[in-house]
Amino acid sequence: MPLKKQRKRKYNIPLFIPHEGCGHDCVFCNQRKITGFQTSVTPEKAKEEIAEYLSTIKNPDCDIEIAYFGGSFTGLDLELQRRFFEAAASFKDERISGIRLSTRPDYINERVLSQCAEFGVRTIELGVQSASDRVLELNRRGHTFARVEKAAEMIKSFGISLGLQMMIGMYGSSREDDIATCEKIIGLGPVCARIYPTLVLKDTRLAELYKAGEYAPLGLDEAVELSEIILNKFRAHGIDVIRVGLYPGEDLRSEGNIVAGPFHPAFGELVENRIYRNRIEADIISRGLKDCDYEIGAPPSETSKIIGQKGSNREYFKEKYGVRLCLKRI
Ligand code: SF4
Repeated sequence: MPLKKQRKRKYNIPLFIPHEGCGHDCVFCNQRKITGFQTSVTPEKAKEEIAEYLSTIKNPDCDIEIAYFGGSFTGLDLELQRRFFEAAASFKDERISGIRLSTRPDYINERVLSQCAEFGVRTIELGVQSASDRVLELNRRGHTFARVEKAAEMIKSFGISLGLQMMIGMYGSSREDDIATCEKIIGLGPVCARIYPTLVLKDTRLAELYKAGEYAPLGLDEAVELSEIILNKFRAHGIDVIRVGLYPGEDLRSEGNIVAGPFHPAFGELVENRIYRNRIEADIISRGLKDCDYEIGAPPSETSKIIGQKGSNREYFKEKYGVRLCLKRI
């Protein structure tokens, strides 16, 4: 029998370009806080960081992507974009398989995409945030959803993989709006997606709205529950959800920076816990289980998701049904 081919381990070398190229001021955004970096990255600095990062990856048989995140990369001057691409291309390491970047939908055009294709950009992630033009306008995004649709089609027509990012709980958005955004994103055929709950950050217009009582962020439980619904929808359509929740870097978590909102350092993990809780609970109810052991075979990577943060799922089933979760390694 042929042996199953092992998938190569993937690595990302993240390079953050805070607010560079962005002439907008979305109400929720304090880009420097989100990326966790205070200084802008130059192509020379990018090279140094790539070299340093590469030296830490000892695995000879892996797949490495260089990722320009954090701002609106394709809003940079075309020549500067080229210099960033050249910085990445100057590494002859065969493990580097391509570049990925994040940008705004209205910074996508033929010239930008031609250059991306020339340098082997594999994936472009667009910040969609919402599919409702009313919500986009209230949040001062500066583009409509039609622009997202156009950019998504253009990216795919260049043979570049599409990634889409959405937010939940934005100013003026409802649960129905967020679910509709997820469904419209699915319709655009991305290979991957990210889900970010809206946080109220210091020094943003959203913080003013919050203080004036005009905006109420989602509660943590509400955000977890809504993210679960959206995550399940994406997965049901074969879309790889590569992040749920903002990266909890030191700067984001610095004293007083998060004014309000559903922040948790392991937000994505809470959502995964909830998915398992609901699945197991549906099974317990359908089989009428009570006061018994419930055996689950799971690989080590899933164990903590099943048990829940600090054993929360284990406790939940014990208290509610007298059911004891017993994990068997497979
Ligand atoms: S476009 Fe992106 S970087 Fe610019 S203000 Fe909006 S969220 Fe921040």
